[in-house]
Amino acid sequence: MKIEFESCSENEAFARTVIAAYITRLNPTLEELSDVKTAVSEAVTNCIIHGYDGGEGTIHMECTINGREVTVMIEDYGVGIEDIDKAMEPLYTTKPEWERSGMGFAFMEAFMDELQVESVFHEGTKITMKKTIGKETDSE
Ligand code: ATP
Ligand code: MG
Repeated sequence: MKIEFESCSENEAFARTVIAAYITRLNPTLEELSDVKTAVSEAVTNCIIHGYDGGEGTIHMECTINGREVTVMIEDYGVGIEDIDKAMEPLYTTKPEWERSGMGFAFMEAFMDELQVESVFHEGTKITMKKTIGKETDSE
């Protein structure tokens, strides 16, 4: 599944709805659904607020399902991240004046099984996240 949408805050809700609809076939629990939606929100919000700094831009989202594992890729072609390790530290934010708490990456890491951040400074940022749905029910 591949979509492209404009960078604007309304599309954060759109992206959450899209991912929820897409993973329905895996019968996620409410908690799993909420985890994936939150991770997608955080990634899309980062593209809007940081990648494009509130301005115009295109956000690309690609999702695949392999067995019970969902992979979500979210990419922007904005400013990019200069120091990825630093950006991923909990509480690190470059926009404290916007009341950001620097917890986006920490949430993505906590709610998903895997998080990969690739970025080229001044070219853009690509986030790839994976999560296996139905781990708990498997062991019952
Ligand atoms: P919060 O997510 O808690 O509102 P935040 O967005 O600042 O705050 P993170 O989501 O953890 O925190 O991101 C940390 C930092 O990484 C950001 O402050 C920003 O500097 C950088 N960053 C994250 N995503 C992008 C992106 N798509 N493009 C450019 N910079 C980014
Ligand atoms: Mg964030």
